[in-house]
Amino acid sequence: MIIGIDLGTTNSAAAVWRDGKAELIPNSLGDFLTPSAVSISDKGDVLTGMAARERQATDPDRTATGFKRLIGTQEKVKLGKQQFLPEDLSSLILASIKADAEVFLGEEVESAVITVPAYFNEQQRRATQKAAQMAGLKVDRLINEPTAAALGFGIHELEKEHPFLVFDLGGGTFDVSIVEIFDGIIEVRSSAGDPRLGGLDFNEAVITLAAEQLGDSVKDLAKNPECLAIMREAAERTRRALSDHASADYKFVWKDEEYKTELFADDFEKQAEGLINRLREPVLRALRDGGIRAKELSEVVMVGGSTRMPIVRKAVTRLFGRFPNHSLHPDHAVALGAAVQAGLRSRNSDLKEIRMTDVCPFSLGIEVADYDQFGNVHSGIFAPIIERNRTIPTSKMQIFSTMSHNQKDIRFGVYQGEARNVSSNVKLGEIKISVPPKPAGEVQMECRFSYDVSGLLEVDIHVQQSGKKEQHILAAIPWKKMI
Ligand code: ADP
Ligand code: MG
Repeated sequence: MIIGIDLGTTNSAAAVWRDGKAELIPNSLGDFLTPSAVSISDKGDVLTGMAARERQATDPDRTATGFKRLIGTQEKVKLGKQQFLPEDLSSLILASIKADAEVFLGEEVESAVITVPAYFNEQQRRATQKAAQMAGLKVDRLINEPTAAALGFGIHELEKEHPFLVFDLGGGTFDVSIVEIFDGIIEVRSSAGDPRLGGLDFNEAVITLAAEQLGDSVKDLAKNPECLAIMREAAERTRRALSDHASADYKFVWKDEEYKTELFADDFEKQAEGLINRLREPVLRALRDGGIRAKELSEVVMVGGSTRMPIVRKAVTRLFGRFPNHSLHPDHAVALGAAVQAGLRSRNSDLKEIRMTDVCPFSLGIEVADYDQFGNVHSGIFAPIIERNRTIPTSKMQIFSTMSHNQKDIRFGVYQGEARNVSSNVKLGEIKISVPPKPAGEVQMECRFSYDVSGLLEVDIHVQQSGKKEQHILAAIPWKKMI
């Protein structure tokens, strides 16, 4: 049996394709969402999901959340006396999802389609795969979250070219993607986002608002990390309540004293205005990069629990001049789409064949120097070779020449980013290649960049005059780190 899993930063969810449709799988508590949290109890037992999430405020030193942000790195997470790699923690979540799914389905779950953010690089994808293996799951396929979301909303059932905009506001991240289907191929046409914008930031807005109402003593309490954790928990509850009510209590207990105030949705809206404004730019950028006007979109689909906030829906409606599609619960769409893909993989006859492609979410190029119109040399200029949002795998070649007489070698940095000056981009490595000494401009170097879904950039250099060839493999960095 194969299932679809949305392995999220805040919450994970699973679904299965059966009887011609995608169906969510409840966990042992009967919930469709399993918090992506791991905690070690005082007795040394491993707790996952809600049991772990509840210990975040009370036992922060023994509880881990948000580790998806670290996956693919060797950064250890300390829980009590034990240390874990991020992939170990993800594996514990996957193992609990697998176990819960087996109980629900009454059969063994051997493999899964697992979703990852579109910008995940090779290391992050590999670490996710490793986490699944450790959990006893064969990874049938990793698919991008926006692609899964679009499948969840039925993009594969449409006949013609249909661009969807996937607006995903989760616990800590904001991702916008344009996903398109034509001729049975699903493609992420462009993606943009803000790695530091999600529900957690809106919780801070609640705390600021509440602290203003409660006065200076509470502002001081927020300086104490333990108390702040409790205040954040309270803010999360209040904010969720404000999604359904015009006002809600904000209350918490610290050192036997209760702090309480009533917050109004209107005030919250004003307080969160700065955060709401930050939703605009990535949307415009995804549209611009995808070469699509808002009115050409077939659907704007809402994904991620934070899009349950009315202020977010209002902002999206304003931005697009229409109501977004929320026929699915925003926090279930990715898992349901992963199950559609699982159905496709198991060659389920209810589903027609589709394929998927991706784009390179950033530009890749080298550092060059150039003359201006007055003959002055300017160095540190970024020359993109692979431009942002090209469909991958992609390979492009450009020719560069020497600038000085009898130059013996060419040295250059390889960068990713969008800025004109390399200093504002991310350096991936430096390459040096010897060239035959000749007058300036008479030695040509072919520089080929190849980039594929794995996130590895292959740089092939060929010096025409000497026939010298070199190959370098560099790892691109997901755009998250670049902001
Ligand atoms: P992720 O993709 O980060 O794993 P989710 O899509 O599950 O996360 O979104 C988690 C976020 O959704 C949390 O920050 C949570 O506060 C928010 N959220 C869930 N339900 C609601 C609600 N009813 N109102 C406001 N925010 C909500
Ligand atoms: Mg998510």
